[in-house]
Amino acid sequence: MITAQMPTYALYDVAFESGEGVYLKATDGRRFIDFGSGIAVVALGHAHPRLVQALTEQAGKLWHVSNLYHIPVQERLAQRLVDNTFADCVFFCNSGAEAVEAGLKIMRRYHQENGRPDRYRVVTCTNSFHGRTLTTVAASRNEKHMQGFAPMPDGFDQVPLGNLNELRAAITDRTAGIIVEPVQGEGGIHVAGDGYLRALRDAADEFGVLLMFDEVQTGVGRTGKLFAYEWSGVEPDVMSVAKGLGGGFPVGACLANEKAGGAMAPGSHGSTFGGNPLAMSVADAVIDELLKPGFLDHVDKMAGYLRGKLEDAVAAHPKVLKEVRGKGLLMGVECHVTNSDVVNGLFDRNVLVVPAGGNVVRFIPPLIVEESHIDEVVAALNEVCAGMEAD
Ligand SMILES: *Cc1c(COP(=O)(O)O)cnc(C)c1O
Repeated sequence: MITAQMPTYALYDVAFESGEGVYLKATDGRRFIDFGSGIAVVALGHAHPRLVQALTEQAGKLWHVSNLYHIPVQERLAQRLVDNTFADCVFFCNSGAEAVEAGLKIMRRYHQENGRPDRYRVVTCTNSFHGRTLTTVAASRNEKHMQGFAPMPDGFDQVPLGNLNELRAAITDRTAGIIVEPVQGEGGIHVAGDGYLRALRDAADEFGVLLMFDEVQTGVGRTGKLFAYEWSGVEPDVMSVAKGLGGGFPVGACLANEKAGGAMAPGSHGSTFGGNPLAMSVADAVIDELLKPGFLDHVDKMAGYLRGKLEDAVAAHPKVLKEVRGKGLLMGVECHVTNSDVVNGLFDRNVLVVPAGGNVVRFIPPLIVEESHIDEVVAALNEVCAGMEAD
């Protein structure tokens, strides 16, 4: 018999009742350390006092009015994102897939507005992940995610990440834009090199197409900069953001420069919930915390510490673990053994991590993580590996 919850998820045998910082308390009393952050979402950890305050204060005043009216906190957050990024304008929505979808629509409409409606195709990368709507599944072209949902929406051409020749060859006079994750998250923590990103920018300019970065996972401090593109110095025309932006409250955003965003007009796109006062108050508080002096330095420092410890673990267990990849606190360890065995081994030791494609185990703790937490998790990882070597 079917469960009341539609059977779309394979669940771990646990439920949580409360959280504080990097720790979660399960309903059966177990205490877990959370290095998955609800898939890179709870950037400030669980029950951050400032976010609890922002949410409850706003909840007592006003939740929702729709985008038919001015929403001052939405205008303020948009301005802060504009002030702190390449972008000139922001569209708010509720999830990563919606943020990507908005960006894809912007790329098409930009060319339509410029008299080139034939330019509608978007170049994407293999092993990418852009969401689970029909169009974002078509963009990522992951076989597992497409299964049963044919036919896929048209308009995507895929090339391997990092191969510039293939990318340039894929750009035709039908191309509207390119979409790339600065670090592929779900696909297995593949870092797009700075040189590659720079070459993407050059190719986009040369061929007159738009460049979009999907920073749904890499954004909002995850890599030690507010957004990962800052490491490369390469600015996109369009950027999708979500996951960490609400610190656990569902919110997404599509950022664009004036050239791209200027293609949109009243009525061209919209969302009932997007940017409502409740979501905006929480996201505004998240950005407050991230912009505090020293916050991103802390992320950077913890990232270096985590990477060092994971590299030590790989060196100590070369039969189990293969290599460390990633940027900031978006770190992956590729395994020789099956990644889910490592994830399950850690789960049995009350440590939460998340698998990724390419047999990778992802370590994506809240950005407020401390060295002692990293020590705790890596000690558990070493135990799991030692156990596997003994088998
Ligand atoms: C998670 C993710 C998405 C999809 O976000 P949802 O909120 O699940 O729709 C899109 N792009 C990237 C890079 C992601 O990591």
